[in-house]
Amino acid sequence: MNGKSDYYELLGVNRNAGEEEIKKAYRKLALKYHPDRNPGNKEAEEKFKAVSEAYQILIDPEKRSQYDRFGHAAFGEAGFARGFDFTSGFEDIFGDIFGEFFGGGTSRRRTRTRGEDLRYNIEISFEEAAFGAEKKIKIPRQSPCETCHGSGSKPGSSPRTCPSCRGSGQVTFQQGFFQVSRSCSQCRGEGTIISDPCSSCNGAGRVRKLHALSVKIPAGVDTGSRLKLRGEGESGSSGGPPGDLYVVIQVQPHPLFVRDGLDLVCEVPINFVQAALGTEIDVPTLEGKVKMKIPAGTQSGKILRLKGKGIRDVHGYQQGDQLVRIVVETPTHLTAGQKQLLKEFAALGEEEAHPISKGFLDKVKQIFG
Ligand SMILES: [Zn+2]
Ligand SMILES: [Zn+2]
Repeated sequence: MNGKSDYYELLGVNRNAGEEEIKKAYRKLALKYHPDRNPGNKEAEEKFKAVSEAYQILIDPEKRSQYDRFGHAAFGEAGFARGFDFTSGFEDIFGDIFGEFFGGGTSRRRTRTRGEDLRYNIEISFEEAAFGAEKKIKIPRQSPCETCHGSGSKPGSSPRTCPSCRGSGQVTFQQGFFQVSRSCSQCRGEGTIISDPCSSCNGAGRVRKLHALSVKIPAGVDTGSRLKLRGEGESGSSGGPPGDLYVVIQVQPHPLFVRDGLDLVCEVPINFVQAALGTEIDVPTLEGKVKMKIPAGTQSGKILRLKGKGIRDVHGYQQGDQLVRIVVETPTHLTAGQKQLLKEFAALGEEEAHPISKGFLDKVKQIFG
């Protein structure tokens, strides 16, 4: 036995305590014994280390179950100083536990941080996707406050040096064999405190407002295409660079065309007489109607190609084709006269005029007799 106290007893929770209860108990004790609040008090420091250790074990389900089964032996005799990694995870606990207790108020992050990226979804027409467009959009985003030019301090006043860390933004304390440094909690690592906050932004240095932008949409974009507008995201803080804006494209469907990569597919119905005799028809393209020859004997489903009438790729290197899929429409609602004519037509040697049907019937005959 190395004289260690029971982790549950240290935190003052029972053995069935849930995560929230453990967190709560630790917060209370850690705040009480925190070295910042007990400068030079060895006993408090020891206590702080002990409850931190207990917390690290009990908050981790795997370590907790090992501890429940084997006690302190699960983590070796060396205990905390060797068995636990201070450098990783430690910040997490403090960020989580202390973030809401210390500092706050008028302090503000002074660290240069890059602004966040923004995403804007835009719906455009099929034609706009094919030919490109220029769209005006309005995005709500954080911009530097104009009143204080982003400083967060009331014009005429300036931030004062943080008394806790004397402006360094870092607080160092001894933890067993380790010298542990963490961000100063009073100024949140910024080194300065805003004593007289700007009234327009409440000291944040940034305000959210609608920002009008013009977006050039290149020809050839499709649903899901993302345009990156560098530097048009949220503004950074304390002189950090702004984030980027991603405009995500949604293309409305077209009543006549479907896109297949760079090709456009369009179905065009013709009647069976046109299909049999051949004809010339008007075919719609994105740039207007064009004449197209339908050869005699065209079957339903035949695909005819209009070269270069498809979509240009975004880089402008190539252009797809338009594929015209012919659908032969079987006539309905026939008059008595039309029916009569069709019967006469059928009587005039059906087999020779329909080689595909004849071939099919021959195969059926071969198989079934
Ligand atoms: Zn301001
Ligand atoms: Zn500080």
